[in-house]
Amino acid sequence: MERLVAEIRIEGLTRYFGGVRAVDDVSLDIADGDFLVLLGPSGCGKTTLLRMIAGLLEPSGGRIMLGDRDITHLPARQRDLAMVFQSYALYPHLTVERNIGFPLRAARRPRAEIARQVRDVADQLELGELLGRRPRELSGGQRQRVALGRALVRDPAAFLMDEPLSNLDAKLRTATRTELTALHRTLRRTFVYVTHDQVEAMSMATRVVLLNGGRVEQAGTPTEVYDSPASVFVAGFLGAPPMNLLPARIENHGGTLTAVAEGLRIPLWPGASEPRDVIVGLRPENAFQLTAAGAGAPVGTASPAGAGARTSAAGPAPGIHGVVTTVENLGSEEVAWCDVGGQAVALRGPRPLGLTVGEHAHLTVNVSRVHLFDRASGRRLE
Ligand code: ATP
Repeated sequence: MERLVAEIRIEGLTRYFGGVRAVDDVSLDIADGDFLVLLGPSGCGKTTLLRMIAGLLEPSGGRIMLGDRDITHLPARQRDLAMVFQSYALYPHLTVERNIGFPLRAARRPRAEIARQVRDVADQLELGELLGRRPRELSGGQRQRVALGRALVRDPAAFLMDEPLSNLDAKLRTATRTELTALHRTLRRTFVYVTHDQVEAMSMATRVVLLNGGRVEQAGTPTEVYDSPASVFVAGFLGAPPMNLLPARIENHGGTLTAVAEGLRIPLWPGASEPRDVIVGLRPENAFQLTAAGAGAPVGTASPAGAGARTSAAGPAPGIHGVVTTVENLGSEEVAWCDVGGQAVALRGPRPLGLTVGEHAHLTVNVSRVHLFDRASGRRLE
């Protein structure tokens, strides 16, 4: 079958609701075959953006191109894009078979072709046993798959999905996630997928677009947005627990640029930044050396006289000094929380971390894993 070009180009797309700028001058290139995830907190404009792409909402400004066609004002049904709704929108009185085949019957395709395609789609989505049932006789997850099947059978240029997994229980959500990733790989179609769930985004996306207040905060591969967050917003949105974000000041200590705050002293790489107010970003799982520290002392062991015991002429020993307040057992891993100058700092690693509630901990920081953000703008420095 002839494949339509499914590159979607969004240019300066904007949508107001009264005084609210739900989507604010968004430009994006969605490549053919991308699994693009629109990610962000509630109210950041994900659904509004998706609905404009789908043709369900008129933009206040900007343009949407599908290949070289301007589809900005085209009715939804002429866009060759299939929207899969969270609320499923299945016909309650029709069987699974007829729900899936509905778009083909509407397009008056031959009966044998409809039967074959419905069977194909039902096989792919493991719905073969359920073809005779009606939506009320299905679980949430099964209804979800029927909704997907109904989109799939139309063979659209791209699938648009708005939180399609949010009504599923945790186990089924994980399974359906894997299924969707596999489906994307098999179909090689463009998926545009809305979620506020970072795990869904990180595990399925080829590209993630982080939205904040209707604007694109960062677009990149899951690895890029996780490893090089463009802003404090992105850094604090991703990760479990998210990146520790600690206000500090960069000072020049005898030629060494050093990030300094109460309980924190991290010598930085040459040229890291001029002296200024920053936010230091430390991922709980990789910013701390959890094995032996430089001198061979186990990191995280109690320092009998507290942080002061390690103080040298230049100030406290490099790293972070705090008091362990909580240790959470996650099964294979642990998360420990330390109070560092009144701020909660999380670290995460294989269990046991060797930290005990109430002890003074000196944490050695892996300087290659330090992220710096300008405190005023929140943007990444580098
Ligand atoms: P959620 O994850 O909660 O669905 P979202 O990121 O999808 O959020 P949108 O639903 O796109 O966000 O909403 C973006 C902003 O636009 C919000 O401030 C919302 O209140 C507002 N908004 C959305 N739809 C309307 C509407 N029909 N009328 C007025 N304001 C709206």
